[in-house]
Amino acid sequence: MSAGVLILVGTPIGNLGDISPRAIEVLGAADALACEDTRRTGRLLSHIGVRVPVLIVMNDHTESEVITGILDRLAAGQRVAVVSDAGMPGISDPGERLVAAVSAAGYVIEVVPGPSAAVTALVGSGLPAGRFVFEGFLPRKGSGRAERLSELALERRTVLLYEAPHRLERTLTDLIGACGSDRRVAFGRELTKLHEEFWRGTLGDALKRCADVEPRGEYVLVLDGAPLPAEVSDEQLREALTLARSSGESTRDAVAGVSERFGVAKRRVYDLATGSETSK
Ligand code: SAM
Repeated sequence: MSAGVLILVGTPIGNLGDISPRAIEVLGAADALACEDTRRTGRLLSHIGVRVPVLIVMNDHTESEVITGILDRLAAGQRVAVVSDAGMPGISDPGERLVAAVSAAGYVIEVVPGPSAAVTALVGSGLPAGRFVFEGFLPRKGSGRAERLSELALERRTVLLYEAPHRLERTLTDLIGACGSDRRVAFGRELTKLHEEFWRGTLGDALKRCADVEPRGEYVLVLDGAPLPAEVSDEQLREALTLARSSGESTRDAVAGVSERFGVAKRRVYDLATGSETSK
């Protein structure tokens, strides 16, 4: 008996032409296919002319329940494929818990890569793609949302966010509250579809645009990273050190406190405190 394999398969985010030949081959050879919605996946399967013997519904609510059944299939040597409604499974979609359970059980996991809206938007955004973070959907409300927004305000890397059209205005307003209206942002809308659009500007402009043109379709927001803090001068650091020492702090405590407060290296503050920077 061959060993069971779990295969995560990327599917199009809009344009069915983006399904890869390898995805078609793997789906055609699968004994079972876990998907979020059988009707939607059924349409994809009929488009590519593939029949899979068993479809398993795996969404956010059922993922934990279907894991045991999938492990049984793998134990029986089956090839179980996983797709989500669109893009890569596990990216703001079910799959992560299943992969953790299958890898803990020691089965082979393969991935057939396909499009993902986040990376597609990033590369077309014109914003730095060298370092980025994927945040998916922000928490909808409460302290979780407020905490995430204040983290994003300081995040230096480009940030990728998913958002529904009817929440776009609220999210842009909150991002302006956290990052200011001048922060650069881009969005990719309806990517790979008929009405695909890339828009680039500032958070302030984006909010104005929401008022002018009602948001419709699927969006990825690409937010520029936070700017570097203004350079702290040696003079500022010396003043802070003098103040700390005059209030009775030891040199060691004053150096630690000042370096933390200004976010600069302890070595630099220590050299200023001991005057050793003048000899360099
Ligand atoms: N697994 C998918 C992926 O790899 O991109 C993401 C699924 S998540 C449930 C759906 C969200 O992804 C949408 O609300 C939207 O923010 C984004 N998205 C998906 N397809 C998109 C598209 N064609 N254009 C823009 N954003 C898209």
